[in-house]
Amino acid sequence: MDSKLAAVKEILSTPKNILITSHRNPDGDAMGSSLGLQLYLHQLGHTTTVAFPSEYPEFVGWMPGSEKILIHDMEVEAVNACIEKADIIFILDYNGLDRVDKMGEVIGEQKDTPIIMIDHHLNPADCAEYMFSDPSASSTCEMIYDFIVDLGDQDKITVALGECLYSGILTDTGSFKYSTSSKLFRVVAGLKDLGVDDIKLQNLLFNSLPEKNLRLLGHCLNNRMEILEEYNTGIITLTKKDYEVFDIQRGDTEGIVNYLLMMGKVKFAAFITEQPTIVKISLRSKGDFSVQEIAKQHFRGGGHKNAAGGASFKNLRTTVRRFKEILPQYKEELTGIKPTEEALVKSED
Ligand code: 5GP
Ligand code: MN
Repeated sequence: MDSKLAAVKEILSTPKNILITSHRNPDGDAMGSSLGLQLYLHQLGHTTTVAFPSEYPEFVGWMPGSEKILIHDMEVEAVNACIEKADIIFILDYNGLDRVDKMGEVIGEQKDTPIIMIDHHLNPADCAEYMFSDPSASSTCEMIYDFIVDLGDQDKITVALGECLYSGILTDTGSFKYSTSSKLFRVVAGLKDLGVDDIKLQNLLFNSLPEKNLRLLGHCLNNRMEILEEYNTGIITLTKKDYEVFDIQRGDTEGIVNYLLMMGKVKFAAFITEQPTIVKISLRSKGDFSVQEIAKQHFRGGGHKNAAGGASFKNLRTTVRRFKEILPQYKEELTGIKPTEEALVKSED
């Protein structure tokens, strides 16, 4: 066991008050890793709270412990009190305190509280005493599995805990379509041997949509999709009006961006949506084209090579125009064809 892990094992050897946090708009990996870690820490005798900046979507609401999660947007005082009284704070599935807005500011003020980061995003910020960062991992859930095993506690991975972890692996890999490794398959084989019902999880996570979500998907593909052949790029946009008409709630647009990549010619996909105060940009790619770079350089964001996101403070129309304007800079990478000098000059303005 290396010294970092040994130090964490020592910290966890006596009962503590532990706060587990994850990112805004928590997804399957944020939920699965937080609630899976919580089930483990309970077995070690710790008192725990899970807190997120914003609400989790319905399709992960069945996970054990979800009903007790505190949401900073709705319970500021309660969450701040938990942050202040915590002996240790875990930050899971995010790579810097700026990813959790106001909650991150309060966490940052607790100078004497050790932070343990477990995360798989690129470019982690230097904000944790104990940092477990592995951008090659499929998911934070895979890392939590390793964390528990490396601490010598594989026998504490129960079926309920395994279901949390398997869920995050499924959602972050798109059911094993990306970020896979032979090691990941050994992890999931271990979970299946344990008795995790992967078919049940598939149905809970992916085959439980209300009708309106499929109507929304149809609308996106039929009316809101634009293919920019010249750049092997696809865009789907949603307006505030769409949000009203289709009664779009948190999590309802999950996965829509991936449909663009189902076209052979599309290597770069963007889902651009008008939110109450910002325009949110979700980017995906196939192969070596890094959307993380684009999110970081142009949209104050980040993420992974093939899945990243960011935001724009301009309106939807201007954001989409800006998005199209940057494409000539990436034309050669996307198509193998050099952009014209004129297009490039305009793009870099
Ligand atoms: P999604 O498109 O599903 O919202 O996010 C894809 C990936 O990009 C996730 O790993 C997410 O953490 C990351 N991401 C999304 N939005 C942002 C953002 O505004 N800033 C940063 N740094 N990462 C983001
Ligand atoms: Mn993740």
